[in-house]
Amino acid sequence: MSILAVGSVAYDSVRTPFGSAERVLGGSATYFSVAASYFSDVAIVAVVGDDFEDKDLQVFRERGVDVEGLERAPGKTFSWSGEYGFALNDCKTLETQLNVFASFKPRLLEKHRDAAFLFLGNISPDLQREVVRQVRSPKLVACDTMNFWIEKEFKSLLETLKLVDILIINDGETRELANEANLYRAGRKILSWGPRALVIKRGEYGVLMMNDKSMFGAPAFPLEDVFDPTGAGDSFAGGFVGFLAGSQDLSEAGIRKAIIFGSVMASYNVEKFSLGRLKELTFQEIQQRYRAFKQLTHFEDIE
Ligand code: AMP
Repeated sequence: MSILAVGSVAYDSVRTPFGSAERVLGGSATYFSVAASYFSDVAIVAVVGDDFEDKDLQVFRERGVDVEGLERAPGKTFSWSGEYGFALNDCKTLETQLNVFASFKPRLLEKHRDAAFLFLGNISPDLQREVVRQVRSPKLVACDTMNFWIEKEFKSLLETLKLVDILIINDGETRELANEANLYRAGRKILSWGPRALVIKRGEYGVLMMNDKSMFGAPAFPLEDVFDPTGAGDSFAGGFVGFLAGSQDLSEAGIRKAIIFGSVMASYNVEKFSLGRLKELTFQEIQQRYRAFKQLTHFEDIE
């Protein structure tokens, strides 16, 4: 097994200027694993409540995601509700109910302890570390987080960052985490806390990668239909880590390609609510959009 992902499996209620969805399948581990499944084999570690429906489990199964580490506990599934404004870049969280996640103690199956790639999805930093500790010798640890955890568990998050190779985080959270308004300086500060690279997601403005030696920027794909940005960050991470695990290429060139595959998955994800678009993609569509990205950003060198 190549990738192990810990994160939320959730019921989301989402309002955007273009529509709304009530109690639909969501969660960081969900979007991540479905996106990653197009590139590599992937297993999840998470918990759901006794209200979790079989048809939602089916979404993972149909994509070949290993759900043996998905525990079912008495109580309610994690739920989140959010609202997006007209620009769709800013999301207001209306409610977060941790429910069964509040007392979740992940115990990894023996086979999951050999994962080569580890994704610490958006969930409490204590839980993220519990999982890292149980994996024998991961080649790469990537991590996401959000304002909820930056505000509630800042110290614990700093401990997690010491164990992380690549932090994948959005621009607002980068500024908040570093307590620094300038994105470049905020990124540099976070790099000094442990991660070897930072991938900053900037919503409709694309992605900026920073490491010790270089920077790389990619735009978001200009789309005619954007319905729901929920999960864009996690499907980006799924495409990104999925491609790295599938190709085993961790060179700078490999990381740049992975960033474009991540952007491709995020761009498809926002075209429909919940997993509507992400779960039904073909690899041909993924390649087509990768090439469209290449075209979009190509320019000649000067003589
Ligand atoms: P994103 O990819 O950043 O849009 O993440 C969206 C997903 O994150 C949603 O499907 C939510 O269920 C999940 N989520 C929101 N808040 C939290 C939280 N505090 N902890 C874990 N997952 C969350």
